[in-house]
This record gives sequence, C-alpha cells and structure tokens, in this order.
Amino acid sequence: MNCPCCSGQTFDRCCGRFISHRALPENATQLMRSRFSAFALAERDYLLETWHPDFRPPQLRLDSEIRWLGLEIIASEEQGEKAQVEFEASLLSAGEVRALRERSVFVRHQGRWQYTNGEQLAPRTAPWKPARNQDCPCGSGLKFKRCCAKASV
Ligand SMILES: [Zn+2]
Ligand SMILES: [Zn+2]
Repeated sequence: MNCPCCSGQTFDRCCGRFISHRALPENATQLMRSRFSAFALAERDYLLETWHPDFRPPQLRLDSEIRWLGLEIIASEEQGEKAQVEFEASLLSAGEVRALRERSVFVRHQGRWQYTNGEQLAPRTAPWKPARNQDCPCGSGLKFKRCCAKASV
C-alpha cells in the first residue's frame, strides 16, 4: 500500500513504521507526514500520543465523512528543539475537494517530536467538485465514481 502522505514510498517504509512504534520520527516533517497518515487511517491513539500534552485536546473526534486525499509539504524549518512545517492537505467532504493549509508548530519533548498547534492559512486552491468520470483526486488512477466517490457522502 502506498503511504497516504504522498511520499511515493510504501506505507510500511514511510509512516507505517512510526505509527506502529517501530521507529521514532527523526524530524518534524516526518512526524507531520505520519500524523497526516494517521488522520487518513483514523489512528486516533497515534494522533494523541504525538500531540504535546499542553496542547492535546481531551478528546479527539475524527470526522468519518472526511476522506483525506493528499499532502504537500510547502516549507519546513527546524531550530533546535522547535520546528515549523507548512503544508497543504486535500480532503474530500460532501463530494467536494477542499484544501487545508496550516503552519504547524512542533517541539521536541523528552526526545520526541510532538505537535503543539498551528496557524490556519488561506488555501492555495479553491474548493472544487470532481466529475464522476474523471480520474480520482486521490491519485489511485481509478475513475472518481469507482474510488473515493463511493466513500464520500
Ligand atoms: Zn508517509
Ligand atoms: Zn480515490
């Protein structure tokens, strides 16, 4: 299976090893990617444990109507124990593709990179509706109607 984070690697060699606790992300970008994959795969425990305790929500509700399609890392910078990663994620919700752009702040807490919070930025792409017969925006190579349209309400 291809990694949901769009790295072009298999899930197992990419975010899967972090989500299954076989390895620790070495930098904030790796953590960011693995958190995106965890959202895509509804790995709630991983999302909570990689969230800094001072910022972590008491409960995390994942919206089952959302299908995460892809991730693009726009910029990242790391300074000592702090890092910022700007990304744009695309998601499908109610038949519409939408982008979510955020500048996330990460800190290294007890040797592990953790997410604190983020600043929402204006997405670069406006929402759009894929046609049923076009290629699926998730990049599977299937027609939209045979792929993610089925999963989206
Ligand atoms: Zn990945
Ligand atoms: Zn799809």
